[in-house]
Amino acid sequence: MSNKPLIVITGASSGFGAKTAQLFNKKGYPLLLIARRVDKVKELPLNFENVMVEKADVSNMEELKTAIRKAEAVYGPTDLLVNNAGVMLLGNIMKQDEKEWSTMLDTNVLGVLNGMKIVLDDMVKREHGTIINISSIAGFKAFADHAAYCASKFGVHGLTETIRQEVADSNVRVSLVSPGAAETELLTHVTSEKSLNDYVSWKDSMGGVTLDPEKIAETISFIYEMPQQVTIREVSIAATKQQA
Ligand code: NDP
Repeated sequence: MSNKPLIVITGASSGFGAKTAQLFNKKGYPLLLIARRVDKVKELPLNFENVMVEKADVSNMEELKTAIRKAEAVYGPTDLLVNNAGVMLLGNIMKQDEKEWSTMLDTNVLGVLNGMKIVLDDMVKREHGTIINISSIAGFKAFADHAAYCASKFGVHGLTETIRQEVADSNVRVSLVSPGAAETELLTHVTSEKSLNDYVSWKDSMGGVTLDPEKIAETISFIYEMPQQVTIREVSIAATKQQA
């Protein structure tokens, strides 16, 4: 059994979450990895000795809480929660199915609030713990066809800074990481062909070099491994050639 504390990562089945899981696994932290596609998590190149994989939809408070409490019963309290699970369904709101708005707001905003509520009480009591929320550059800047996604990620910015202030006095850290465009599975759920093509053309304008997801994992690890009395409040990180 590892003597390091428990790290919980949502959206660990691909992209940033999977890379973050791999990095903390190499460092020997016990992990709870959450996703809906748990088979994909189980295929990651990890040492599974201190890894629990649980299926949960982050927008479902009970599922998420059950998963986290199960891991805490084995590994002790959550010391780091990475609220990474998210979806980006691009589209012009005049044409987009409203269900896509709900999916983004439920996952990207309510999912983050759910995770925070589940771990914060105990962190505040222990006066120890860290939450890192993955937002986006679209959490503080507008981009065409991103209206509902921007609404969700601006929401993550707002709630993160609010809660950071509320728990600061309890020595609990709340941080925000805002990535730019990166190669993950994020685009695979976009249903609007035009929005997808426009986004891909925009990405191509960066000379084919978008942000390496491993750099997000390293950023998360850097924030977490600062001393508890130091909070890196926000990191905005993108490929050098990303202008917007
Ligand atoms: P991926 O699509 O590769 O990964 C998203 C992860 O979220 C998957 O593991 C997926 O797992 C999980 N997920 C989605 N919905 C739910 C849900 N309801 N419950 C539980 N898990 C869920 O994309 P990224 O790695 O790129 O995305 C990670 C985060 O980074 C997101 O918040 C995204 O908005 C943000 N981001 C990404 C950028 C990029 O360009 N890639 C740029 C800026 C921010 P599963 O489907 O198995 O449940």
